[in-house]
Amino acid sequence: MRHESKRARVRRILLTGVGFGLTAGVLVTFVAAKAVIDRQMKELTAKNTELQQQNEELQLQVEKTDAVENSAELLAGDSDGWSLALVNESYPLDTSYEPAQLTQIDSERSVDSRIAESLQKMMDDGAAEGLSMYVTSAYRSYDRQREVFNTTMQDWINQGYTPLNAYEETKKSVAVPGTSEHATGLAVDIISTEYEELDDRQGDTDEQKWLMEHCWEYGFILRYPENKADVTGIIYEPWHYRYVGEEAAKEITEKGITLEEYILGQ
Ligand SMILES: [Zn+2]
Repeated sequence: MRHESKRARVRRILLTGVGFGLTAGVLVTFVAAKAVIDRQMKELTAKNTELQQQNEELQLQVEKTDAVENSAELLAGDSDGWSLALVNESYPLDTSYEPAQLTQIDSERSVDSRIAESLQKMMDDGAAEGLSMYVTSAYRSYDRQREVFNTTMQDWINQGYTPLNAYEETKKSVAVPGTSEHATGLAVDIISTEYEELDDRQGDTDEQKWLMEHCWEYGFILRYPENKADVTGIIYEPWHYRYVGEEAAKEITEKGITLEEYILGQ
């Protein structure tokens, strides 16, 4: 084995050291630069997400304002907010409103075509769970609503109520024409074949229990829940489901609020 001179060895160690130092330096610089870039990317992404959220919130505010002020226009338009249109006694729907496109769900009933697929899926999934239910009421025109209202009011009058009292009594279970969600084409009454009455006990059927738990997954909400009549103006209706879109349905269900509270922030 050849003996290296002391000088050569020192030079070799020195050069190795310099080489190693250079490599380490480049690596350190690279890692540091990458960390800075990563951090900047993260900040930019966060900022972007924040702006997007602000934009979505603003958009939602616009939709909510339209939902109460312009429900017929909102329903008829292309804006995403169509499913949020608020129709109740305080915010009636233009009596001339008719859904642009209706889809027949059976020989007599139809819904706004935009909700037909979600409704069908919900009914199919319910049936697959072994449940037996059907839609008993769907889109109802202003004229039809007036007929239903007048017939119910007449029943009360026949039972001895004064017209004024009959009107007040009818209002509790039938929306005053112009204030019915059924005129939007976005609401359906679903009942169990095991129990076909429209009263509180409908809510105890397996069908309603399943619907109340799962309807939000299809963009629907139970529109008139128990103990919310002071907000909705309508008594507990464990059969009336309203399409509001999946996002709103999720939030409304999670928070246990009504469409009024969601839109008006009451
Ligand atoms: Zn209904």
